[in-house]
Amino acid sequence: MSWDFSTEPEFEAKLAWMRDVVRTELLPLESLLDELDMDAIDRALAPLKAQVKEQGLWAAHLEPEHGGQGYGQVKLGLMHEILGTCTLAPAAFGCAAPDSGNSEILALVGTPEQKKRWLEPLLAGEIRSAFSMTEPDSAGSDPTLLVTRAVQDGDEWVINGHKWYSSNASVADFLIVMAVTDPDAVSHARATMFIVPADTLGVRILRDVGSMDDPSARFGRYGNHAEIRYEDVRVPADAVLGGVGHAFVIAQHRLGPGRIHHAMRWLGQAQRAFDMMCERATYRYAHGSLLAEKQTIQNWIADSAAEMQAARLMTLHAAWVMDTQGASAARTDIAMIKYFGAKVLHDVIDRSLQAHGSLGYSSDLPLEAMYRWARAARIYDGPDEVHRQSVARQVLKRYEAPRDGVPSEHVPTRRAVAHEMYAHLLATDS
Ligand SMILES: Cc1cc2nc3c(=O)[nH]c(=O)nc-3n(C[C@H](O)[C@H](O)[C@H](O)COP(=O)(O)OP(=O)(O)OC[C@H]3O[C@@H](n4cnc5c(N)ncnc54)[C@H](O)[C@@H]3O)c2cc1C
Repeated sequence: MSWDFSTEPEFEAKLAWMRDVVRTELLPLESLLDELDMDAIDRALAPLKAQVKEQGLWAAHLEPEHGGQGYGQVKLGLMHEILGTCTLAPAAFGCAAPDSGNSEILALVGTPEQKKRWLEPLLAGEIRSAFSMTEPDSAGSDPTLLVTRAVQDGDEWVINGHKWYSSNASVADFLIVMAVTDPDAVSHARATMFIVPADTLGVRILRDVGSMDDPSARFGRYGNHAEIRYEDVRVPADAVLGGVGHAFVIAQHRLGPGRIHHAMRWLGQAQRAFDMMCERATYRYAHGSLLAEKQTIQNWIADSAAEMQAARLMTLHAAWVMDTQGASAARTDIAMIKYFGAKVLHDVIDRSLQAHGSLGYSSDLPLEAMYRWARAARIYDGPDEVHRQSVARQVLKRYEAPRDGVPSEHVPTRRAVAHEMYAHLLATDS
């Protein structure tokens, strides 16, 4: 079987344009993030967003009828590798999480009315959204355990529950809330997604949770993660997104491509850290030589280069399988890149930070912030351990216990068989 990750020259030209914009406009803006409020960032991004639209690169993850390009996952992956180098880039290109995943769900299963009311302004960048699934009191790694309830009452649903880590919820105009609608159904049919306008009575956004990324999160900042109580929140029947009991199936649709985009963005981040490490090696002098001449640093550079290459090929392969054979054929590949990519990201940034010593630990370089972000990648989109378990299960399906309890490669057993098979040779030899 041949694999083909190539793209045509016209698309390569678009990638080159993206690289240039990220380097010359977005990275300088990123350095001002702590000094600018959201309005100022929006104003700074507005002209750039217009250029992105002119280039036909806005919200490229969607099909053409929703303003996207209908690019397959390989092309989207290559784009996300560039966007991953700068925290602001996904927003400038209309594909920042969680809006990108939410727009995918709306495009996939939204009714025409839901698309008009929520998807169109979301794609136009006029409103923001959040995805509200994880709960403090149930294991997010096993969403079949969700406890937030939605109960039908006439033409309405009434939602009660406690969520947290709903990214961007404190600045969102609407939330996609996952709630149990049939506790007695089989585990994967218990929950439903609802579109809940953020100003609905009973939606209580308690706080933005301080985190490793931002220990003293200021309320209402883009990129924060909110804790929310839903108290007798009433929504009409047409707030159901994609059918009652369908939340898990829809969530899988949302997460598959999203994980490829994440993994490629992580590679963009890892490359940035790698470039810093290599640059440092060329000028930092200690104990009689440059860092570049020390074997440990050489090992870090060589191992990082090999690991990034492996992660890149694995991710492009997963994207190619998705493009050519569909999402379910790519399931194991996608689970693999989640934990492999998150570890590569973490390890490359960690080595780069170490190679920079106190400068790496300081906020004079972006490495310390990148390191904190990288740590989260092992948790969100399903903790790495869950993906490892899923891959191991898929792999183990191809194996069975030996019928006689003897390992297939047991040498004495094989030798006994060989003695019979090749008795004529052995007889001649002796
Ligand atoms: C930066 C960030 C952004 C996020 N954004 C959102 C968002 O927008 N919306 C949203 O709903 N949620 C969001 N989350 C939450 C995220 O999806 C959950 O944290 C994640 O699913 C894990 O759930 P949990 O935190 O409840 O951990 P738990 O489910 O309690 O798991 C804790 C740990 O248990 C271990 N574990 C669990 N299962 C297994 C297993 N099968 N085998 C071995 N070990 C296991 C793992 O080490 C795991 O890390 C975000 C999280 C982060 C960090």
